[in-house]
Amino acid sequence: YQAKRDRTGVEVYESKRDSNTPDRLGLLGDLRRALDAHEVSLHYQPKVQFDGQVAGLEALVRWVHPERGKVPPDEFIAIAESSGLMPHLTEYVLETALAQVAQWRSQGLYVPVAVNVSPRDVHTPGFAGSVAARLARHGVPAGSLQLEITEHVLLEDPQRAADTLNALTGHGVKMSLDDFGTGYSSLVHLRRLPVSELKIDRSFVARLAIDAEDAEIVRCTVDLAHSLGLLVVAEGVEDDETWERLRDLGCDAVQGWLVAAAMPADETTAWLRARGSRGWQRPAAALPAAA
Ligand code: C2E
Ligand code: MG
Ligand code: MG
Ligand code: MG
Repeated sequence: YQAKRDRTGVEVYESKRDSNTPDRLGLLGDLRRALDAHEVSLHYQPKVQFDGQVAGLEALVRWVHPERGKVPPDEFIAIAESSGLMPHLTEYVLETALAQVAQWRSQGLYVPVAVNVSPRDVHTPGFAGSVAARLARHGVPAGSLQLEITEHVLLEDPQRAADTLNALTGHGVKMSLDDFGTGYSSLVHLRRLPVSELKIDRSFVARLAIDAEDAEIVRCTVDLAHSLGLLVVAEGVEDDETWERLRDLGCDAVQGWLVAAAMPADETTAWLRARGSRGWQRPAAALPAAA
């Protein structure tokens, strides 16, 4: 067969090609091993404000399998969730991200980092305490860590989930509601979850500039979030027109390939240094010609 390859020529694992159970089990065994074998790493994607200031970075996990190539996170995170491996993976992600934040801080780069956590993590007993202990161990202030959760945390035992999240915000950790708009009843959950940021899902952002309904949904989401005192981040911003529409709608920050894709830690360090205090600027070629 013809293996699918990404732009850099690395083979991309396609679940559609082999969604059979034995293979998922194989992949699960491989993931267990991969966590110890340093095949898993973190990339970082900037969140930037419209004045170019870097609002933070999101840590996104990457797995390059020795035979299969890059395995998409959506694929192996689902496997980790259903197999009980998720706490182990999240431990790795939190540990690596906090060590990186501490290193950046020691180099004068004070940038908060967001870590995605799954519902399984939030329901793991002692999760809030373990996050607090980890922050202390790395000497990282709680305000430099953000956790991205989804509405799915409320599917099972919403009260316990809310208790854990309140304990985390009590420690000073910031909470962000990811993939907003894709859940099963978004508005109710805004009242129950102690979040300070809302991320509009890429599926609404992608066609914002060409679809009037999507634009209206984004407008209402921004207004709703602001009326509740939340910051709004749009994910998946790929072009100038979308950037401009989001700015005009009053969105607070964006993330997307227009600004930067997720990068390995060393590239992220270089990216942060290159921007300096000036922040990210749109490339001159992309700006409208001067009159
Ligand atoms: P997410 O948290 O909503 O992350 C955004 C996804 O959109 C990332 O995919 C990112 O690489 C991608 N993206 C960013 N900008 C653009 C853009 O301009 N255009 C397009 N088309 N895509 C863009 P990724 O890295 O494949 O991650 C997929 C999902 O896997 C994440 O969605 C998150 O739910 C989950 N995930 C990733 N890392 C972790 C992790 O460490 N722990 C947990 N629990 N979940 C993770
Ligand atoms: Mg996220
Ligand atoms: Mg998201
Ligand atoms: Mg998303």
